[in-house]
Amino acid sequence: MNEKRVENVIIVGGACAGYTAAVYTARAELEPLVIEGFQWGGQLQNTTDVENYPGFPEGIMGPELMQKFRDQAERFGTRFITDDATRIELSNGGIHSVWVGDEEYRTRAIILAMGAEPKRLGIPGELELGGKGVSTCGVCDGAFFKGENVAVIGGGDSAMEDSIFVSKFANDLSIVHRRDQFRASKIMEERARGRENITFRTPYVPEEFVAGDDGKLAKIRLRQAETGETEELEVGGAFVAIGHTPRSELVAGQVDTDDGGYVITEGRSTRTNLAGVFAVGDLVDHTYRQAVTAAGTGTMGALDAEWYLRDVPPSPEAHWSGFAGEAQPDAADDEERAEVSAS
Ligand code: NAP
Repeated sequence: MNEKRVENVIIVGGACAGYTAAVYTARAELEPLVIEGFQWGGQLQNTTDVENYPGFPEGIMGPELMQKFRDQAERFGTRFITDDATRIELSNGGIHSVWVGDEEYRTRAIILAMGAEPKRLGIPGELELGGKGVSTCGVCDGAFFKGENVAVIGGGDSAMEDSIFVSKFANDLSIVHRRDQFRASKIMEERARGRENITFRTPYVPEEFVAGDDGKLAKIRLRQAETGETEELEVGGAFVAIGHTPRSELVAGQVDTDDGGYVITEGRSTRTNLAGVFAVGDLVDHTYRQAVTAAGTGTMGALDAEWYLRDVPPSPEAHWSGFAGEAQPDAADDEERAEVSAS
């Protein structure tokens, strides 16, 4: 008999969506457990000024904002495990398990909030100059480059969208793409081509982000893909917009995902195809990917989980001990596990 405690709700992921889900589920007295990751805080942990999060008219530093999210969740009794989930076994309406190394945590409802990572070029200077001219979010950081020459790297819709937004502030903006053909939708490409201060530079491959004497980005070394010749593009800002990778690897093959690996949710809810499994934040979001939208879906996930726990009778193995918002010991192994795909 497995006497391990069964949580009401486990939230996997410690950033905007996960911590917001924790605030709501904690205030609903569900005693959430957040497996927040060793490097909690998500993408904002690597960001400097955040000027578009409502409620902070003077702006706030990304890590400070994340600390505030966490503190607020803690205030209502959220418990945290500051380590990475290493394996997840999802069930359909039964008990789900999350492992952190050898330690197993069991739960009736689970909120997946593992986020997405911007893809990187993997070239010198990219990480070192993050926050010093190199960014992965035009909508977040574009306004910091008023009157400067900037570059956006990529040829998809994200690159076009970032370019159109950032060109409102920049002096000259170069879209640098490695091919002459664009993956972006025609309408987005045409919109970008219609902006007077946008120039298309193709086919060019960025090889290095180079700092100036002040330690900030000063130029990008580019290689012409056909001739192999290199040239330098002087810019104060560069936006790498080459796509995102959702962090769904621990649940791949268990819950429905789309071709890009994003978890699929039903309609405008956070429900997945598995009962008791909810997905929120950038893990499900191709489009908006903002701190405030991630926080919004965190709220939705918490409410969906709360309603699920209220409306769905506990599975037989949790039933014997009753359920009333208190985490319960579990009697038996869950027989309804979805097929496991360990990491
Ligand atoms: P994407 O469509 O996968 O495009 C990524 C772009 O980056 C491609 O042009 C690709 O070049 C380039 N790239 C990838 N790796 C690279 C590397 N190592 N070096 C240089 N270039 C590299 O990604 P996305 O633009 O983020 O769009 C993702 C999805 O979200 C799409 O379905 C898109 O339609 C959607 N989206 C929609 C909107 C909107 O409608 N407003 C806005 C944003 C995103 P290649 O083409 O050569 O592979």
